[in-house]
Amino acid sequence: MSAPATAAARHVDRVDAVLPTIRRNAREVDLTAAFPVENLTVLRESGLLGLLIPARYGGLGGDLADLVRIAGDLAAECLSTAMIWAMHCQQVDVLVRHASQPLCERLLPRIAAGEVYLASVTTEAGKGGHLLSATAPLTHRGDELLIERMAPIVTGGEHADGFLITMRTSPDATPNEVSLVYADRDQLTLSSRGVWDPLGMRGTHSLAFNITGSVAADQVLGEPGGFRAITVESMVPAGHLGWAACWLGAARAAFAGLLKTLRSPGRSASIDLGSPLVAERLARIRLDLEAVSAYLQATLTEITAARRAGVSVGDNVTQVHVNSLKILAAELTFQAVDRMVQLGGLGLAYRRDSPLPLERVFRDLRSASLNYANDRLLVSNGALCLMDTAVNLLR
Ligand SMILES: Cc1cc2nc3c(=O)[nH]c(=O)nc-3n(C[C@H](O)[C@H](O)[C@H](O)COP(=O)(O)OP(=O)(O)OC[C@H]3O[C@@H](n4cnc5c(N)ncnc54)[C@H](O)[C@@H]3O)c2cc1C
Repeated sequence: MSAPATAAARHVDRVDAVLPTIRRNAREVDLTAAFPVENLTVLRESGLLGLLIPARYGGLGGDLADLVRIAGDLAAECLSTAMIWAMHCQQVDVLVRHASQPLCERLLPRIAAGEVYLASVTTEAGKGGHLLSATAPLTHRGDELLIERMAPIVTGGEHADGFLITMRTSPDATPNEVSLVYADRDQLTLSSRGVWDPLGMRGTHSLAFNITGSVAADQVLGEPGGFRAITVESMVPAGHLGWAACWLGAARAAFAGLLKTLRSPGRSASIDLGSPLVAERLARIRLDLEAVSAYLQATLTEITAARRAGVSVGDNVTQVHVNSLKILAAELTFQAVDRMVQLGGLGLAYRRDSPLPLERVFRDLRSASLNYANDRLLVSNGALCLMDTAVNLLR
């Protein structure tokens, strides 16, 4: 009998099967700012949309360590595609942990079969990125819940088969009473607005939408008004781990490409590998990547241990760690690729027609501090620091 697969070896064949397509499409996806439809098709076929779905629903029964590892592998080829997949997995983690039993039975097998790609609708006109508030209310019509909402930015909204949407719990609820609702695409009418032509992350095709529709009462996740608990236990930890893994995967692959080029016989002689300045620059890039990698692994260990023990990850200290991961990863991976551009110069890095995709990764990683504003997390962490006077650092 063969030994059980180690975490490092699990799902390797599935990942290997999708990487060539993602690699081949990466440049075109960026140039055209088009959603990577073919990449999503191979991800659907691979079973990887069901990575975090328990085996009893037909999924791969993977965990957050699998998410982190695979996100890094995908991001090495195309950061947009990796983020599309990681954000889908973040929504799956939310569903697995917080959906009602009837919704799990109806939906999870379809996701595992690759039929349902999930989009997320939390940003809202008027309140911007603030996660824990909502403006548009859910209203009741008999047993149905009605949705009418503006969504300024929805990654993959034109291609998603299901949506997780934050709504104010009722017309008389305060903005902080937020419910998370699942809606199938055929329960909604979506009309897109404007165009998607950003600096980076162009393949995410994150358009604005007006969304209307109705869902059954069992499509509210958790308790009505209970979005905060879902955020703290699932959406934020799974999100920050997945995003950090994507950003690190992209920056690491960019560095590997740069190092290989610098060591190749045909490289430009203008970069003197014997120079202490070049050595210092290489060391600093490595330092940024090492710091993110270590913090990512330590956060993963902390969250995984808490989940295994059935303990909440909503305490102040763990929240500081999970937020710090996102801030650190966003800042340091962008800093690392900025340093690579400085080192590679015009010929190797700055030009769009360079054989290395450094300028694309630079543009993509500029979004990391905006993709849930670092400023918001820093303000939140500052307040949490005052409640942890013992200063419990991540170990
Ligand atoms: C590639 C990409 C894909 C995305 N996909 C989705 C998606 O699928 N679904 C979705 O819902 N959203 C999505 N978003 C939106 C994202 O999660 C953020 O919510 C959004 O980018 C915030 O937009 P903003 O920076 O304009 O607004 P805000 O977060 O409102 O911030 C505006 C500015 O004000 C500052 N600021 C605001 N409030 C505070 C405060 N209290 N303290 C300190 N500073 C503050 C911010 O730092 C920033 O400079 C995506 C974003 C990106 C970049």
